[in-house]
Amino acid sequence: MNENLTKEQWIQVGREMIAHRERRIKIARGRKFDTIAAHGIYDPDEAIKNNNASIMEPVYLTPAQVYHNSAELEAGLAYEMPNWCYSRYGNPSNTFLEETFALLESYGSEIEATCLATSSGMSALRIATDPLLVKDDSLPPPNIVSSYQIYGGTYQQFWVRRREEQGIEVRWVFDPTDLNEWSEKVDEGTRFLFGEFPSNPICSIFDIEQVARLAHQYQIPLIVDATCASPALTRPLLHGADIVYHSASKIICSSGTSIVGLLTARKNIPSRVGDDEMKADFAAWVKLWPFRDNGPGLHPIAAILTLHDLRTLRMKVAQMSRTALKVSQFLEDHPKVETVHYPGLKSFPAHDIAKKYMKLVDSDENSYGFMLAVDTKEDHPGDSTKARQFYDALQLIIRATDLGKVKTVATLNAISTHKQQGEEARKLSLVRPSTCRISCGIEDADDLIGDLEQALDKI
Ligand SMILES: *Cc1c(COP(=O)(O)O)cnc(C)c1O
Repeated sequence: MNENLTKEQWIQVGREMIAHRERRIKIARGRKFDTIAAHGIYDPDEAIKNNNASIMEPVYLTPAQVYHNSAELEAGLAYEMPNWCYSRYGNPSNTFLEETFALLESYGSEIEATCLATSSGMSALRIATDPLLVKDDSLPPPNIVSSYQIYGGTYQQFWVRRREEQGIEVRWVFDPTDLNEWSEKVDEGTRFLFGEFPSNPICSIFDIEQVARLAHQYQIPLIVDATCASPALTRPLLHGADIVYHSASKIICSSGTSIVGLLTARKNIPSRVGDDEMKADFAAWVKLWPFRDNGPGLHPIAAILTLHDLRTLRMKVAQMSRTALKVSQFLEDHPKVETVHYPGLKSFPAHDIAKKYMKLVDSDENSYGFMLAVDTKEDHPGDSTKARQFYDALQLIIRATDLGKVKTVATLNAISTHKQQGEEARKLSLVRPSTCRISCGIEDADDLIGDLEQALDKI
């Protein structure tokens, strides 16, 4: 009986559990993207043995795991066998999401990746960067080299929390398509390079392969925020990035039920700090140690709701991207519009880079995402009168600070997502007072264009 097993025997049980999981991962890796999204590694055998034969992955509303005996408790808590122990450390519902997402983020490659689900995109960024910014007196003072075209909250986390509060230098790359600018900023003190692909809101992108190569010359990781692409379009790990994180609150949880972060890392990342165990399997290490100690866990209900949305990711991204291209083309041709930022437009400055990196998975179709930004023509530079009239006249499209939802959402970024940055910083990040971000949902494109047309007529 299990009650009589010794600690050594429990460790052996643990080895069999690991081998069984690896077999299921191997089977899943032989499948296509949509199949993995639908099933992950949860199969009928697993359902019948472990989950009361339920066809869907269950929500475990429970704080802690029951152990057979003290030997199992001891082996589990010493991390000598797989166990989830306590919901701050992990929860089986969250594990279903993590296992599926790791497979999708590394899809189409031999890369082995591990994923950790967290309470928000911002907490995923925080716990991904904490271990890379630790004190190390053998190195020069730490600095971060980051693209300047990033989400307002990320700017805030770097500029206020890291720089002002912790004294960590932040070096901005103003044109992330210029490799020289990245090279000039990086040095022996740099702990990681950071970029958003594409950036929120103006869809700035960069050549992931080149920037990853530069990072690796300095033995540091490249971290990419791929929230506005998703693995259905761009999987930065396949192009050399080491760590990818998502605000899964957006397209991944597109029904809009939850705030979620997903941190995924390849095995064996480069880093100037941290021990070999950390570098060998970064996301797993973060989950075992700092995540446990700091506590930014995700509620299991949110994990399962996110997993349900994730299953249909590719088909939604395909449709939303086609709609976003149509909407962009309509806006670009409109006489009241100054600029449209959308990677799928020929006028987009980095269209060639977009072509290289943004493809609908399991197809040859270039697909440029659901998000675009539009600047209306104003009477004076720096004005936002017309943008506001246009924005206030929208009837179907929702006014909110959100994106990646099944419903189309529009945002005036200078007074919302990028407010805290201040005017000078906004100018440098190319967010104008008139910039309106539009995140296309799954509605019919003609209805969206109709709404935009009537709103532009009002100005
Ligand atoms: C929303 C967003 C974040 C922050 O994620 P939360 O889930 O809201 O914490 C980070 N990066 C990008 C690009 C985002 O759009």
